[in-house]
Amino acid sequence: MGAFTRRAALLMTGAAIGVVGSRTMQSANPVLDGTQKITASGASNTLNDASELSETTIHRHMILTDNPGDMLVSAIRAEMKDAAAAGRPINVGAARHSMGAQAIPRNGHAITYDNGMVDFDSETGIARVHAGARWSQVIAALDPLGRSPKVMQSNHDFGVAATFCVNAHGWPVRLGPMGSTVRSFDIIVPGGDLVTCSREENAELFGLTMGGYGLTGAITSMELETAANTRLEPGFTTMPAEEFGNAFSSALEDEGVTMAYGRLNVERPRFMRDALMVTYRPADDQNDLPAVSGSGVMAKLASRVYRAQLGNERIKRWRWWMESDLGQSLGGGPVTRNSLINEPVATLNDRDPNRTDILHEYFISPAQFPEFLEICRAIIPASYQEFLNVTLRYIDTDPTSVLAYATEPRIAAVMSFSQEKTVRGEADMARMTRALVDGIIGIGGTYYLPYRPHPTPAQFAGAYSRAEEFAAAKRDLDPDLLFRNALWDQYLEPL
Ligand SMILES: Cc1cc2nc3c(=O)[nH]c(=O)nc-3n(C[C@H](O)[C@H](O)[C@H](O)COP(=O)(O)OP(=O)(O)OC[C@H]3O[C@@H](n4cnc5c(N)ncnc54)[C@H](O)[C@@H]3O)c2cc1C
Repeated sequence: MGAFTRRAALLMTGAAIGVVGSRTMQSANPVLDGTQKITASGASNTLNDASELSETTIHRHMILTDNPGDMLVSAIRAEMKDAAAAGRPINVGAARHSMGAQAIPRNGHAITYDNGMVDFDSETGIARVHAGARWSQVIAALDPLGRSPKVMQSNHDFGVAATFCVNAHGWPVRLGPMGSTVRSFDIIVPGGDLVTCSREENAELFGLTMGGYGLTGAITSMELETAANTRLEPGFTTMPAEEFGNAFSSALEDEGVTMAYGRLNVERPRFMRDALMVTYRPADDQNDLPAVSGSGVMAKLASRVYRAQLGNERIKRWRWWMESDLGQSLGGGPVTRNSLINEPVATLNDRDPNRTDILHEYFISPAQFPEFLEICRAIIPASYQEFLNVTLRYIDTDPTSVLAYATEPRIAAVMSFSQEKTVRGEADMARMTRALVDGIIGIGGTYYLPYRPHPTPAQFAGAYSRAEEFAAAKRDLDPDLLFRNALWDQYLEPL
């Protein structure tokens, strides 16, 4: 396919639009009281997210379900005009897997993108995608062409612009977050103009929007760098957890390593004492790559074992053995890069109405890894939370985004908890989160913003040193504060 013309595809096709809900009601957020269960009403004038704990009343929900075009831009502008006239906020979301209403405008106009369009330029290796495309659609389009997303999360359900707006990261090394692979994007800014941003054009808006949680406008399309899809072979190394930071940094100096992650043992008697490092290198044989597959037998088995860990230390021990020992012989064969990242979140679903999976993520410099372990060992086992997993990733310095979490090379520790959906569970999670954030800020680290809004505003400001600058620039761009969500309301508005 030849080079494309900027915005041509976007403006050619129509958009199907569905609108649900138009009443404004009192907040449907549950009253927190004693040991009461936290349940969502599921009312049509509310929206929730992956936490199942963020139910928020909205005014209206517009879902865009077809390819983007003139209609898309006009529909978004019309919705912005309506919202502005009524003094209500507006916010765009995709899969709403964020966990603290970062994609929900309270009493406002919610827009969900649910459509994909991927156009690949084989001369430049750049993919042009609609902002609402999910990674599963991007992988499906790129795989037959021998290409792969350069950086995305470890699961494929998320929206591409949403990934840019949280500035997510994944297993590819040595790379910065996903925003580092974005060449340009088109965005409807609060004033209504459709603007193109790159590192050369509207560069300030580029840096505000990357990791800016949808507060600068509605992205409509993006240009992304891609990588070659390759057959990869894993290598496994186990070590005392204290050694992981240095070992990970050294392993990544080998340019042959293109994907990598780590894990820590989570069974209580050896909590965060043992580490596993998995590095992937291109296999010698790159011929006849198989078409991308979904969850393999090992992923399905791993998911069952993952769930069975709940309250069961024996299974946690067994899982560690399976991953760090048995998995090397069973799951240690070659795999394509695309198959590795083509995993749905559903594989992890707990299917338990009384519990919910809550993620945390902390970013620390590799040199501080032993101190990070000390902090976690002192705080997590003493909480009432069920700790299921921690995955370790590498992220290179991000010099671009204003709300950057990797101002130097960092190890990301992605933690997964199973939380009881009760007031008691929520209070315990909040207490534990604040203790972890305090400790991690104390060693120069940061925490990730798409998860539960338990950190205090002071902790937020401590972790994100340019937050005030972001809030001031947002006010210049959007003086009527049209684009808002819970991240703005709770953390940025007070600055
Ligand atoms: C199971 C699971 C695994 C995860 N794994 C990883 C991981 O490996 N690495 C990682 O970094 N993160 C990970 N995350 C976090 C994930 O990247 C974020 O939650 C991300 O927001 C999910 O994308 P989404 O489509 O659900 O975004 P949403 O929650 O729908 O939106 C996120 C933000 O983007 C904004 N936004 C969305 N679309 C637009 C648009 N078109 N224009 C302007 N703003 C927009 C929204 O307003 C919101 O602020 C994981 C989360 C879960 C639940």
